[in-house]
Amino acid sequence: MRADGVVIVGAGHAAGTLAAGLRQGGYTAPIRLIGAEPLPPYQRPPLSKAWLKGEADPAGLLLRPATFYAEHDIDLRLSTRVAGIDRAAARVHLENGEALPYEHLVLATGSKLRRLAVPGIDSDGIFELRTEADAQALRARLGPGVRLAVVGGGYIGLEVAATARGLGAEVVVIEREHRLLARVASQALSAFFADFHRAKGVTLMLAASVTGFATTAGKVSGVMLASGETIACDVALVGIGALANDALALDAGLDCRDGVVVDEHAVTSDPAIFAIGDCTQRPMPRYGRSVRLESVPNALEQARQVVARLCGKPMPAAEAPWFWSEQYDLRLQIAGLSLDVAKTVVRGDPASARFAVFHLDADNRLQALEAVNSPAEFAAARQWVSARQVIDPARAADTALPVKQIIESVPGVA
Ligand SMILES: Cc1cc2nc3c(=O)[nH]c(=O)nc-3n(C[C@H](O)[C@H](O)[C@H](O)COP(=O)(O)OP(=O)(O)OC[C@H]3O[C@@H](n4cnc5c(N)ncnc54)[C@H](O)[C@@H]3O)c2cc1C
Repeated sequence: MRADGVVIVGAGHAAGTLAAGLRQGGYTAPIRLIGAEPLPPYQRPPLSKAWLKGEADPAGLLLRPATFYAEHDIDLRLSTRVAGIDRAAARVHLENGEALPYEHLVLATGSKLRRLAVPGIDSDGIFELRTEADAQALRARLGPGVRLAVVGGGYIGLEVAATARGLGAEVVVIEREHRLLARVASQALSAFFADFHRAKGVTLMLAASVTGFATTAGKVSGVMLASGETIACDVALVGIGALANDALALDAGLDCRDGVVVDEHAVTSDPAIFAIGDCTQRPMPRYGRSVRLESVPNALEQARQVVARLCGKPMPAAEAPWFWSEQYDLRLQIAGLSLDVAKTVVRGDPASARFAVFHLDADNRLQALEAVNSPAEFAAARQWVSARQVIDPARAADTALPVKQIIESVPGVA
């Protein structure tokens, strides 16, 4: 092993997990972890949930205590940005002019928020939510009676809407599509969340396109819509999705296609360079295509692949992708990806806020499952999705059958 060791670009969820995993796996060469943010690696999911509500301890956000890195001989450099990669010399260049040599380089640069390019977007009171600093700024402005306009009815927008209602804010969600979660959830789930948010007092404006922000003395006072309507607000959150942070990889000539293209072991088109987490376009053999995922389980899985490779350990078994979201007292868990879906089957009554949606392909194999407050269905589905299990739609819908018995009469297909 060369003394240059590994340089990890980004110090987020994937990177922090990787650095710790490498030391636990017996990696003894230098580890340099370079992060643009001022905080040691932390979790983002609480930023729109418990942490935004003020229910979580700030230190609880960190993946490991701040002292962990020095104690494990990990050179963690915060508030430091990598400006470029010189592949021929196997070095990265930092914005401060320093150059760091590497034997292996890992890109863990995450994703960047999609910007809404409309007049007034830079006014005071308009927020986005990606970092702890973003969450601090937003939290300082939420409270009883505050009028919050959320632009974007995706997971982050809806989680913030739920949290803000919990803090007593008046909330309007403005979504361009005809339903919430249009890109990422089934019709049944979208309809359920729309009803639930409305019942909690959130106003939903669907098929509504934002054209700009009205301001008073530089401060946001409303969201202007293509319909000509202006929705009055004191604070606005824009959550309209994210893009891969792959500029460094592109500049370095690595293969990129909506993310840094990697193989099943997180290796990029340069064998000395890995990429992990939100910034990657990764193969998903279960679905016969490549995808870019923005989820913690994906970041952790790819970090484990790099640990295995650099520590000479067996490659971990591939796992079905999964995701979760929390809104009010609802816990949504999703196993698999809703690709090539021929039919959906709802198990349970959405009105009870406890149900699951099975997504089956043309051969009735389980492609994905969305589970609301249904952990048993979710746990079973993670196995079934991986096993390409055939599901009898009638048995799936029959809530008199315990979850495990749904598949009793139908063999799995390898
Ligand atoms: C508000 C919010 C809620 C979420 N909720 C959930 C959830 O409930 N469930 C779930 O599974 N996922 C959730 N996610 C997504 C999840 O947090 C991400 O998938 C995960 O953080 C990805 O990890 P990562 O390491 O790839 O990227 P990140 O954690 O984003 O880390 C990337 C880091 O790289 C740094 N960086 C980028 N470029 C450079 C550079 N040139 N030099 C140095 N540093 C650089 C960035 O500043 C950043 O700190 C949520 C995300 C957000 C924002």
